[in-house]
Amino acid sequence: MKALREAIARMGEGIGRDIVKVDGFLNHRVDTGLVMQMGQAFAKHFAATNPDIVLTVEASGISPAFATAVALGNIPLVFAKKSAAVNQREGMLTADVYSFTHKTQNVIRADGRYLPKGARVLIIDDFLADGQAAGGMISLIRQAGCTLCGVGAVIEKGFQNGGKTLRARGVNVLSLAVVTGICDGSILLDDTDEE
Ligand code: 5GP
Repeated sequence: MKALREAIARMGEGIGRDIVKVDGFLNHRVDTGLVMQMGQAFAKHFAATNPDIVLTVEASGISPAFATAVALGNIPLVFAKKSAAVNQREGMLTADVYSFTHKTQNVIRADGRYLPKGARVLIIDDFLADGQAAGGMISLIRQAGCTLCGVGAVIEKGFQNGGKTLRARGVNVLSLAVVTGICDGSILLDDTDEE
């Protein structure tokens, strides 16, 4: 997606060899117009898979997932939570996820009532790196007896294995931008569009 690549080139920072910082439009300040365009691009690609629900993980996945759910005709968005609430009810589905950015093992949770058996679920997240977050959400979808429509990532880090592994498993994956590497703080981008 050209507008996204331009935003990454203008505002993105490469940290060390493998962290992409895009706080200027996605992970801290949200460029709402750009995020709505992301939602339209995901909806265009995944509409044919007939999703009933969009699933993401809090927090930074929520804005592109929301935009996608709106573009798909105002379908519901469910975001998995990263912390257990005091008033947590029974029937929560859980999955273990290793956080690449924080280097910690986390549990993600979703209330089974919001992923009804048989629903068709589309995963949208901000980044696809090693595929841990996507793997955790796929586990929630399986436990709930739902069907996976595909995985949409705003930014795929092509030098990590998440995208390759999911595609090899036959998952329909769309990344709106692919980072091929980081060199002296600059983010290197694949300039071809999948669409
Ligand atoms: P994965 O689970 O695929 O290894 O990593 C994806 C998750 O980790 C995303 O939910 C995202 O929040 C976070 N993440 C992974 N790599 C990066 C990165 O380079 N920059 C940022 N901002 N988040 C990342």
